[in-house]
Amino acid sequence: MDKIASPKKTKEIISEYQFKFSKSLGQNFLIDENILEKIVIGSQVTKGDYVIEVGPGIGSLTQYIAEKAKSVLAIEIDKSLIPILDRTLAGYSNVKVINEDVLKLDLHKIMAEEFKEPDAKIKVIANLPYYVTTPIVMKFLEEKLPIDSMTIMIQQEVAKRMEAMPSTKDYGALSIAVQYYSNPRIIAKVPPSVFIPQPKVDSIVIRLDILDKPRVKVEDEKLFFAIVKDAFSKRRKTLLNALSTGNLKLEKELLKEVFEKIDINPQRRGETLAIEEFALIANEIFNKK
Ligand code: SAM
Repeated sequence: MDKIASPKKTKEIISEYQFKFSKSLGQNFLIDENILEKIVIGSQVTKGDYVIEVGPGIGSLTQYIAEKAKSVLAIEIDKSLIPILDRTLAGYSNVKVINEDVLKLDLHKIMAEEFKEPDAKIKVIANLPYYVTTPIVMKFLEEKLPIDSMTIMIQQEVAKRMEAMPSTKDYGALSIAVQYYSNPRIIAKVPPSVFIPQPKVDSIVIRLDILDKPRVKVEDEKLFFAIVKDAFSKRRKTLLNALSTGNLKLEKELLKEVFEKIDINPQRRGETLAIEEFALIANEIFNKK
């Protein structure tokens, strides 16, 4: 089938299948060919790459990816979109659609089954449903799936948090989590007018290049992320107060010893700390426990 990403064609398909947009599934479909090009070019996908697309919708982005990639595995939660995808992707023999909730899938297993070539690169490309952006991104990162990069359309506000640096208003636990596993790079800013229906917020296409190994060496990842969480959950408190009254309830005496040993002022606020400093704190506490 011809390309479907135009306001006219998208509306035709939607009316032919009497498709009803679901707000709760974050359904905002792309209708602008320039943006679709930008996403695919920004992803640096090549003919040798396997791609996972989360939420193909009616297949507008899938068509563009299929032309550039070796194959595409598209995971769509909404059953009513499957007959539409059967039609819009009929001409693309390298696309497989599965009707599943990506958050419930055993992706390690599926990727091993679908992508058999051991050296092939696997990329994630998606216009993500905004209501579950963070859980989806964190699933791919935390499960340490064998992916090369994630090129995703997300809300501008979330993208800014992902790439934020210390001592800025957007810096927080999400910045640390994303930067622990990847190098985030903003590719394009996108206005609401390129979607049907239009979202209320501006969007951003961002690429997360997955690092070969995490940015910092951490003895105990659970402890590291728990410390980060406590440090940011009480943003206005000093590190000493935030970490002694947070979920971990670390003893003040222990914390004072730790801060002295690694030469970090306990009166600083968590939001001023670089990821390397969080790693120093976590590793020192790990060694003392
Ligand atoms: N890729 C299409 C496009 O760009 O036009 C649609 C993008 S739309 C923002 C998000 C898509 O993700 C919808 O098709 C929605 O049904 C699907 N979706 C929402 N939650 C999902 C989940 N948990 N697992 C898989 N797909 C999901």
